[in-house]
Amino acid sequence: MKKNSGITTKCVHSGDLIDDNYKGAITPVYPSTAYSYLDVEDYKYPRYFNTPNQLALSKKIAQLEKCESALVFGSGIAAIFTSLFSFLKSGDHVLFQSSLYGGTINLVIKEFKKFSIDYTLVESLEIKDFELELKSNTKIIYIESPSNPLLQVIDLKGIADFSKKYNLISVIDNTFASPINQNPIDFGIDIVLHSATKYLGGHSDILAGAIASSSSKIEKIIESSINYGGNLSEYTVWLLERSIKTLSLRVKAQNENALKIAKFLNNNDSVESVYYPGLETHPQHELAKTQMKGFGGMLSFVLKKEDKAADFTRLLKLIKPVMSLGGVESTICSPSLTSHSKISKEQRKIYGISDGLLRFSVGIEDYIDIENDLTQAFNSL
Ligand SMILES: *Cc1c(COP(=O)(O)O)cnc(C)c1O
Repeated sequence: MKKNSGITTKCVHSGDLIDDNYKGAITPVYPSTAYSYLDVEDYKYPRYFNTPNQLALSKKIAQLEKCESALVFGSGIAAIFTSLFSFLKSGDHVLFQSSLYGGTINLVIKEFKKFSIDYTLVESLEIKDFELELKSNTKIIYIESPSNPLLQVIDLKGIADFSKKYNLISVIDNTFASPINQNPIDFGIDIVLHSATKYLGGHSDILAGAIASSSSKIEKIIESSINYGGNLSEYTVWLLERSIKTLSLRVKAQNENALKIAKFLNNNDSVESVYYPGLETHPQHELAKTQMKGFGGMLSFVLKKEDKAADFTRLLKLIKPVMSLGGVESTICSPSLTSHSKISKEQRKIYGISDGLLRFSVGIEDYIDIENDLTQAFNSL
């Protein structure tokens, strides 16, 4: 494969392991946990992140994110935890965007104090507000864009420049965009994270995570990863590599469907508001256009009948009311009943999460079938 190949070609061929024994077309699985230590510099072991299938998949993900190197983990949270704790020590401080995936917020709130690591959740997308919270011991700035569940978009170049100015490490959770729609490394961000459970896996049947960065940062992360564990099983590594072959096709279909759905919902009398970076009415639409190649398959909307969110999802026949996202099938969930259910209604209001809010992961089905399902549910409500 040529280095300047297109993104879909890269999804199919990057990191291929050649089957020299039998000349098969696809990457063979090497499930061994025991490798010879004779006549090798570093012997292979799955927890050392250096087995053949892990290296092949890491290469694929690194190429998709235009990074030198990557690592694959047993979950998105394992990737997030490892990327942070590989660089942090007690006494350090971290700046977090406050609108983050709920599990990331939980990790910070529950675990950081135990290790005397200080943090600030910045309730703004403005660089100047991050600057106000900067301390002499700030080490990392951590963002998510578009964010969960309100699809807020933050200025990647602005964050990267700010991070460089103060010698911080910049980290982004790029899960919602996927490497097809956004490559944060192009804007100078240091470390790119994925919950591969979502778009990279894409079929709601794999739990995995990934980190992509420079070789020097990845080497540093491996030093800690070996102690934390958290590698993915070789069988799942193989399945994830197989899944990524269609990533570009899937995400492009999801971009297209989601933009049409967002416009459809925006013109619907039962809907109060729609959050989608591809809509001209989105407050950061112009910024999104400069840093995203497509606007993604995720959107959120608020029902006018605030108390009917659960009833609405029960009426759907094609779109499944399930947790998680990024699969080929359209799925929907109510943040106030799921990810944010443990937060008080008042606090949820502050975060902009009303009871009528629904988060929609648009699938690859034929567009009209998705629209028809929504229409029949609105009519029955
Ligand atoms: C799901 C998700 C995670 C966590 O990933 P797991 O694979 O569930 O551990 C992190 N960030 C975002 C944006 C997510 O959607």
